[in-house]
Amino acid sequence: MSQLNPRQQEALAHVSGPLLVLAGAGSGKTSVITQKIAHLIQNCNTPAERITAMTFTNKAAREMKERVKKLLPSEKTRGLTVSTFHQFGLQFLRYELINTPLKGNFSIMDADDSKRLLAELMVRDNLSGAERADMVGKAIKMISDWKNDLVAPEDAERTLTDPEDVIFAHLYGLYERNLRAYNAVDFDDLIVLPARILKDNERVREKWQNRIRYLLVDEYQDTNTAQYELIKLLVGIRARFTVVGDDDQSIYAWRGAKPENMALLKQDFPALHVVKLEQNYRSTNRILASANAVITNNEHIFEKSLWSDKGHGELIRVLSSPDDGVEAERVAKEIVTHRLRHNNSWEQYAVLYRSNFQARVLEAELRSLQVPYKLSGGTSFFARTEIKDVMSYLRIILNPDDDAAFLRIINTPKRGMGSATLEKLGLFAQEHSLSLLSACSHTGLKSAVGAKAGATLASFGEFIEHYTRELYDNPDPMPLVRQMIMETGYIDYIKEDSKTPQQEKNRLDNIESLYSSIHALIDRAEDDDEKSIEAVIRKLVLLDMLEQQQEEENTNKVNLMTLHAAKGLEFDFVYIIGVEEDILPHRNSIVSETVEEERRLMYVGITRARHELTLMYAQKRRAGKEYRQTTPSRFLDELPSDHIDYPAKRQKSADPNKVATDYLANIQAMLAAKRKG
Ligand code: ATP
Ligand code: MG
Repeated sequence: MSQLNPRQQEALAHVSGPLLVLAGAGSGKTSVITQKIAHLIQNCNTPAERITAMTFTNKAAREMKERVKKLLPSEKTRGLTVSTFHQFGLQFLRYELINTPLKGNFSIMDADDSKRLLAELMVRDNLSGAERADMVGKAIKMISDWKNDLVAPEDAERTLTDPEDVIFAHLYGLYERNLRAYNAVDFDDLIVLPARILKDNERVREKWQNRIRYLLVDEYQDTNTAQYELIKLLVGIRARFTVVGDDDQSIYAWRGAKPENMALLKQDFPALHVVKLEQNYRSTNRILASANAVITNNEHIFEKSLWSDKGHGELIRVLSSPDDGVEAERVAKEIVTHRLRHNNSWEQYAVLYRSNFQARVLEAELRSLQVPYKLSGGTSFFARTEIKDVMSYLRIILNPDDDAAFLRIINTPKRGMGSATLEKLGLFAQEHSLSLLSACSHTGLKSAVGAKAGATLASFGEFIEHYTRELYDNPDPMPLVRQMIMETGYIDYIKEDSKTPQQEKNRLDNIESLYSSIHALIDRAEDDDEKSIEAVIRKLVLLDMLEQQQEEENTNKVNLMTLHAAKGLEFDFVYIIGVEEDILPHRNSIVSETVEEERRLMYVGITRARHELTLMYAQKRRAGKEYRQTTPSRFLDELPSDHIDYPAKRQKSADPNKVATDYLANIQAMLAAKRKG
């Protein structure tokens, strides 16, 4: 990297007190963090293991680590912590286990698991089906908000008056009790528990404050209350930290992020030094002008003005397509021809969108043109519900102590185990230091959970043990795996549970491809040990983790991702698709009047582009069997017209065949509308 500018150097040199770098997109904030880590190690005698840097996504953390490694010889970076807030929290909990309410092999519930648990708790609370359906989502949101605001269940219950909210607060208490009984934590706990321990336990707090001599945080504008609290507790009064952020890129308010945390810093740390960066090193001036023009429509906390020495650059193109299918086809074809013409590589291109569903049509088009692409943040194979379910059956065969797997399958398919019973089972297991599965076959269980539930649990335990015995040391385990899953009733459950025949087929196909992978692993195994079901499941679990990593790997492929996932990244050629009302801004934001957050998302999207930016919208979009007319996004009207190449301007040079077919389609649509009317 070329020399840092004087402002950036100022940020590097300020090492003894609190520092905030407040600056717009592409101005080198993340670069300041990585260079500062190197500076601290190289020039300030700070051992790497005394430095901690935090960010929000795995991808960002990995990239940051790599950037530091390029700056220093490897022996100098040993022991450096660069992680996400959640990874840090997990490490903290493992380290401080005796100070937590948890046991060693605690499990982590993902969002899906939390949802199931809450749904169960609602059944137990006698909430009727209709009420439940729309309440689960709301309950999860409220509970997560409470946790991220560090509000305990007792406090939530005490302060509320609205009867519906009181039910949620009550559920929150139940939910927390169940998590503890299962020796489990959810994602929010990974931040909330460390913050609570640091707050309540002076000895632990001092230890960590001594251990972390310098703390750096990227994307600070997206911290929520719990994360900010964690930062404050880790830095203590010495306050040796650097946080960098851009309030215009705050896009996680819906997850409790508080851009006000930027203003709070000054209050909490009066010695705070603030550095502003204004030169953008990423984009052309037309791209910056567009970003600035859009974002000025928001209320600002801090005014910023970005400039770049990269010249005007190409006009920003706004393209309109007759429908979403054509839109996808157009992006795919454009990328193919553009790449050929300029002799580029695939990875220089990114297609960004507001919601994951928009990727589907696009993926089909890219596949048909044989364009290699990678999808970040979508649902990968191993993250699919049915795969996670079947894998959980296999995981518990591999490890009878896997409580998270147990909880996933004990009621999938339904075995009538209510959450009250499961809580009792959890407590019983805890008292006897057993895993949930082992507790099922304990003779004393019946008196704890009742005869009927006790019998069901015992027979479930026997079922798993039976197959564990049969599967181990079996030279040909595959037919047995099939038989086991069939016998659990899971396949019938899928048939009943699927909402459409297509969904049923997809889910069954997915399970079949899991079976095929098992087959393939067995076929490819070189010796008998490797053919064992144990080795095969172990490999599958590993594959699962690898797939998650691979997804992020920097190979030569077109990048497909949501605007949220694109934060902090940069690409030479960026396409944003579906720039329409109800998509971007998202429909919910229009209803709840939070369009400003969507505008920031648009700002994030625009500022990802280095050389060329194309914004696309479709005139109609498929919704189920029908097409729905759309309206171009209000954000398009906010663009500075001098820098934009609008569709109308280009119409003259457009393909005459295309113009004719569009014209015909329009007339047909009008006629159809008339006939209807
Ligand atoms: P974002 O707000 O999008 O996260 P950022 O402020 O973190 O952006 P960086 O990603 O650090 O910005 O930098 C943007 C680009 O500018 C990178 O390619 C980086 O290498 C380059 N860059 C940063 N500082 C300089 C500099 N002083 N000279 C030249 N290039 C620089
Ligand atoms: Mg950055």
